[in-house]
Amino acid sequence: MKKINVTRSSMPPYEEYCAEIKDLWDSRWLTNMGQKHEELRIKLQEYLGTGHLELLTNGHMSIEVSLQTLGLSGEVITTPFTFASTTQAIVRNSLTPVFCDIDPVTFCMDPEKIEPLITEKTSAILPVHVYGNVCDVEAIEAIAKKYNLAVVYDAAHTFGVKYEDKSTANFGDVSCFSFHATKVFHSIEGGCACFQNGEFGARLAKLKNFGLAGQESVEEIGTNAKMDEFRAAMGLCNLRYVDGEIAKRKRVVERYRERLENIPGLQLNPVQKNVRQNFAYFPVVFHEEIFGANRNCVMDKLAENCIHARKYFYPLTSEFSCYKGKFEVQETPLAKEISRKVLTLPLYADLDLADVDRVCDIILNCKK
Ligand SMILES: *Cc1c(COP(=O)(O)O)cnc(C)c1O
Repeated sequence: MKKINVTRSSMPPYEEYCAEIKDLWDSRWLTNMGQKHEELRIKLQEYLGTGHLELLTNGHMSIEVSLQTLGLSGEVITTPFTFASTTQAIVRNSLTPVFCDIDPVTFCMDPEKIEPLITEKTSAILPVHVYGNVCDVEAIEAIAKKYNLAVVYDAAHTFGVKYEDKSTANFGDVSCFSFHATKVFHSIEGGCACFQNGEFGARLAKLKNFGLAGQESVEEIGTNAKMDEFRAAMGLCNLRYVDGEIAKRKRVVERYRERLENIPGLQLNPVQKNVRQNFAYFPVVFHEEIFGANRNCVMDKLAENCIHARKYFYPLTSEFSCYKGKFEVQETPLAKEISRKVLTLPLYADLDLADVDRVCDIILNCKK
């Protein structure tokens, strides 16, 4: 039986990548902010329409190093309904995550639940644009202003997403993107931080390169989070195709919607007003009491047919065993409920519509 995974990496034509990396055999400049790195940085800055952009070795390090660059302390209000990276970046900076519940429609942090969590120790808010849905950026900005808090967006899911004609690179103090192989746009591994403040950028650039300020001067306790030339080359190739890839994903999503939209007990991703989507994920929330079958049951049925959907995001990051006893964990009942009910279906640019139909047939056959 044909195996279908939740995602499948986009690739440029083989010859195009080979041509892109050919001059590296002449320059022998393979990493440390070479020519490809600079070219990709400029092209992405233009594509994302942001004032400043720094490339990093992956999306996780873009969050981790951005938090360090801001020089935060104490508590960071964040969401537990996310990938491990978001919370790990906070904890690895010796900061304490404070978990805020989510809006059960957009799956993003509910801004109305932020204020009660603010204490004198709070230094920042770290929201995630979950599944490419845009957070309530205005409400979050208003709270951040009122309490003088930094805002770091985990924008890993929103490459190419625009809110009111502005890309999501433009919100908060910094927005962090992931270019992991499974994302809408990728450089194999990679990521970037987008921001408006040049001083922040200079410090970030230093911290991603061991804190080096010159050959004989190390001013900061930095790390190594540089993007190399081979990844930058993959990014340059993939960037030429990304709009086409998003258009192909749209076709797949439209087919899923046609088949699953009006089925009682199935909750789909919202279509947000004034948002240009990137069709990164297709999550479905299975309300068993209405639909008649639960998430795990549907997942097993799909797996029996070699279709591998994923429980993004289960468990909540606040439930990870590595955090047990390390800090107080807040109750987030809506995030908990969604994490038990949600399944992310296969979605990638060249997924056949016939396969989408097969996935939908299996799901619909689960209902009682
Ligand atoms: C992918 C992802 C990351 C981490 O990105 P990497 O490039 O894999 O390090 C962070 N947050 C979220 C929500 C992600 O989906």
